[in-house]
Amino acid sequence: MSQYPTAALILSAAHERQFPEDSGTEVAFAGRSNSGKSSAINAITGRRALARTSKTPGRTRLLNFFLLAPGCRIVDLPGYGYAAASAAEKATWAPMTTALAQRRSLRGLFLMVDGRRGLMAGDEGLLDWATGAGCAIHVLLTKSDKLKRAESRIQLVATQRQLGARASVQLFSAMDGTGLEDARRQLHHWFKSAAATAES
Ligand code: GDP
Repeated sequence: MSQYPTAALILSAAHERQFPEDSGTEVAFAGRSNSGKSSAINAITGRRALARTSKTPGRTRLLNFFLLAPGCRIVDLPGYGYAAASAAEKATWAPMTTALAQRRSLRGLFLMVDGRRGLMAGDEGLLDWATGAGCAIHVLLTKSDKLKRAESRIQLVATQRQLGARASVQLFSAMDGTGLEDARRQLHHWFKSAAATAES
């Protein structure tokens, strides 16, 4: 059963003016196109079709905000790394991601990285963005079911080394559930620690 039975897309923003009110807690999800971001969102929230809504034509270029529970939102950022996005489209994202970084509610970033490939061009940009925003980063090395056990260990250690103190990292598979509980705990931790700060 989903931890977030009432999770729903609340809005798709094409401009920062459309962002929801900056209160509560937000956790962003980012990754290259095809990194497994939508599958990870669906698996972590336990809602199989949740992120499919962000993939419907017209929404893939927008920032999609989902309300998981009262005051707890996730933000699905456009997949990057595909030449298909025009320069004009990319130009609209930059101000939006800059504005997102300034939001008090932004607490964490899940960065999806294909475990067969490791960190690639574009991922560094997101790491810089989140670090600059003072936002904690947790990397999911996705599709780990496609790697042999030894290969996935090597990729994990190599990525840990590249990330250094900038981010935590784990293996993840939406397909066989590897790392799913750890990823869920991470999301819950960000939501909970923000609520505790707000109350103190
Ligand atoms: P997105 O473009 O980053 O949102 O990626 P998707 O979630 O749509 O996944 C891209 C492709 O990778 C799809 O064909 C998925 O079925 C596949 N995929 C995603 N997660 C996994 C996984 O954990 N294991 C395997 N084997 N394939 C996956």
